[in-house]
Amino acid sequence: MDFLIIGGGPAGLSAASTLRRVSPESSVTILSNEPHRPYAKMVLPYLLAGVVEEEDLFLRVSEGVDLVLGEEAARIRPGERFVETASGRRWPYDRLLIAPGGVPDRPEIEGCRLPFAFTIRNLPDIHGIRPFISTRTNRAVIAGAGPVGMETGDALNRQGMRVTFVVTSNRLFSTMLDIPSAAFLEKKLSDKGIEIRKGEDIVKIEENGTVHFRSGDAMECDLVVFGKGVKPCVGFLADSGIAVKTGIVVNEMQQTNLPDIYAAGDAAETGDLVSGEQRVNALWPEAVEQGHVAALNMAGMQTAYHGSLARNILRVFDVSILVAGMGRADGPEVRVSEDADHYHKLVLEGGVLKGMICVGEGRNEGLYRELMKRRIDVSPYSSSILKGSFSYPRFQRHAMRL
Ligand SMILES: Cc1cc2nc3c(=O)[nH]c(=O)nc-3n(C[C@H](O)[C@H](O)[C@H](O)COP(=O)(O)OP(=O)(O)OC[C@H]3O[C@@H](n4cnc5c(N)ncnc54)[C@H](O)[C@@H]3O)c2cc1C
Repeated sequence: MDFLIIGGGPAGLSAASTLRRVSPESSVTILSNEPHRPYAKMVLPYLLAGVVEEEDLFLRVSEGVDLVLGEEAARIRPGERFVETASGRRWPYDRLLIAPGGVPDRPEIEGCRLPFAFTIRNLPDIHGIRPFISTRTNRAVIAGAGPVGMETGDALNRQGMRVTFVVTSNRLFSTMLDIPSAAFLEKKLSDKGIEIRKGEDIVKIEENGTVHFRSGDAMECDLVVFGKGVKPCVGFLADSGIAVKTGIVVNEMQQTNLPDIYAAGDAAETGDLVSGEQRVNALWPEAVEQGHVAALNMAGMQTAYHGSLARNILRVFDVSILVAGMGRADGPEVRVSEDADHYHKLVLEGGVLKGMICVGEGRNEGLYRELMKRRIDVSPYSSSILKGSFSYPRFQRHAMRL
């Protein structure tokens, strides 16, 4: 059997490793459009901050996997079972996994492609930013305050730059934080001298480094970073017949609508564990799990993926943030604990944890994810969860009784 994988990110690598294990007699080829061997994109902000070395980024590729760098899949011919790359080469397959990840959103405004305007997705983005750090005004303007925007702002601040966040909505990280938690975070950032412009957009960037805002204000800076989210990388599938909504549509086995073609990772939309809707939860652990499940099915071992959970865990500007599920919601049942150092909120439905927000202190995030995924009735423990004293042994004892 010849397995072909498009994309050498965590979804593609996890699939390749599973395929080598369960089908050692088969060939496994990964096509990557990047010139570098696979690396962890989530570590890029730490590289920018100078707290890890570039060598620490690179990921292991399982033995026996044929990794082909610099080959971009340009089209898929499902009828003839081959992928054609931009170089014109054809790559036949028996079973194909599409795992090309996402592309960052870059608003098409005047000046958005000037040499000092960046998105953060790939290693060359970090190489590109470095020469612009603290060159003239010592100011970085970050459009968007989601996880990537905030981690980038934190990294540039650690490098000594003054940071301005420009957010379209009325709060930081509006996709996951509610108004009180965003206000808590805003206060912490403001105390550190971080400027936040809410209800604002960048409308134009000039070559001399002047950034113009929708309100009419303007500001000088050394660099601009767009951290406004990612879109599934699906452009090359246009004439393939593969069903795409926001991302590639897959069933529980990570199978697309076409036989022998699977998809995983940031390019695929899967069932959300809390809302039940199909959506793209662009997260590393989900990409790994989806790649693994896709590979088992590609090898003929029927396996279901149980769904993804929207969540983010980060520490920026010395504040820990853990958000998961429908943490922004006002009900059905909400429990909040807050003081000057923390804001914790649980959203429950019939005792089951549907969402949470913890800002200010670190929490046992793996445990909460498990509680949500397993839809465990946590009502007897909600106070200790709020306080952060709910422990793993207690969870185990509880789980054993179920
Ligand atoms: C700065 C940053 C910070 C992040 N932080 C976190 C975090 O804290 N926690 C978390 O869970 N997630 C985080 N993420 C998200 C996480 O990195 C992604 O969810 C994960 O990398 C998705 O894996 P993937 O394999 O689907 O795609 P990717 O990792 O994007 O890999 C896809 C690969 O396919 C290649 N490719 C694309 N198109 C083609 C083509 N046509 N032909 C061949 N190759 C192609 C791409 O260049 C890329 O190398 C972060 C991401 C970034 C950028």
